[in-house]
Amino acid sequence: MKDTSQALYETLKQGLVDIDARGLRRRRKTIDGACSAHMTVDGREIVGFASNDYLGLAAHEAIRAALAEGASRYGAGSGGSHLLGGHSRAHAQLEDDLAAFSGGFVDNPRALYFSTGYMANLAIVTALAGRGTLVFSDALNHASLIDGVRLSRAQTQIYPHADMDALDAMLDASGDSAATKLIVTDTVFSMDGDIAPLARLVELAEQYGAWLIVDDAHGFGVLGPQGRGALAHYALRSPHLVYVGTLGKAAGVSGAFVAAHETVIEWLIQRARPYIFTTASPPAVAHAVSKSIEIIGGDEGDRRRAHLASLIETTRAMLKRTRWLPVDSHTAVQPLVIGGNDETLQIAAALDRHGLWVPAIRPPTVPAGTSRLRISLSAAHSEDDLARLDHALKTL
Ligand SMILES: *Cc1c(COP(=O)(O)O)cnc(C)c1O
Repeated sequence: MKDTSQALYETLKQGLVDIDARGLRRRRKTIDGACSAHMTVDGREIVGFASNDYLGLAAHEAIRAALAEGASRYGAGSGGSHLLGGHSRAHAQLEDDLAAFSGGFVDNPRALYFSTGYMANLAIVTALAGRGTLVFSDALNHASLIDGVRLSRAQTQIYPHADMDALDAMLDASGDSAATKLIVTDTVFSMDGDIAPLARLVELAEQYGAWLIVDDAHGFGVLGPQGRGALAHYALRSPHLVYVGTLGKAAGVSGAFVAAHETVIEWLIQRARPYIFTTASPPAVAHAVSKSIEIIGGDEGDRRRAHLASLIETTRAMLKRTRWLPVDSHTAVQPLVIGGNDETLQIAAALDRHGLWVPAIRPPTVPAGTSRLRISLSAAHSEDDLARLDHALKTL
């Protein structure tokens, strides 16, 4: 019999050579100690602009203490899936906290906690969509929404990024089809930092009788009164809405949740495979997230958001003075579009020599020819950190 294993090995080796030739090799940096604005990476002190720790909570004393307290109260592991023995008091409490905090867009909200946002998106899309569903998806949606749509086997139409006229036309053309219609979108787009036209999306969902799933990974904790997220930011309410928030970014810990009408949540518990067939995350993690939600919603959260807002304004002014193309973003994601992969890598390397970690984002994460630096701001940064970045960009 022919041994094909060697051929596969050769294919992988050649594939890696191609990745190198196109300037697309990705390398991991190893962080010693906690995630913060100033950290030790591969043994060097640097200022990091790479994390999604928008409020600077990843290393917060009280949240660390809650994690330790949770571990001593509930142990290290959950011991099972949520439906078979792994659902702890800490998970249940967190879900109540999250429903109360972020569920104001719908009557009788409930929340369901997931180990990751990737799984939450796979779960909600595959549980609500099937072969008979029409899905309308923004061209720049996060990979986890795209994968959820693929896995659901729904018929998919991709509308140009944030183009509401195009979406309107597609929904209109779907006419009287009896199929369930589902619109899926990020709120804050992770590589551009712009915000989806959410009010118009809700209008279209209501006009055409569609569901609207919003992924607020980069908005939860940052946008809206008390950091309640993008829907609260625009004071949107609709029974057509399903909300996904993640807890590893602004919340500084780990996990994600879906908030929706209680019927949607109950359906997920019964049917969502990424919820059912996996071990529940450690209860201590849920306990720590509850502490984080308390901080996000309180005065300290307000102070951190105000500081972040001022850093965003400083950065916008700074990027306008460079010879590259800033994206018009009012969020903590501040991209600077360079263009080619090699040039982007060279600039990132030059910043690295200044002790600044600004990741180079290349295809397939962004379209070819739009490679960019992605500056992620955090309330843990100071104006001094930005002055260092400004100085380094000027010397390039
Ligand atoms: C980060 C991210 C996710 C995935 O969340 P994780 O908890 O990291 O798995 C989903 N959607 C968007 C838009 C994201 O940026």
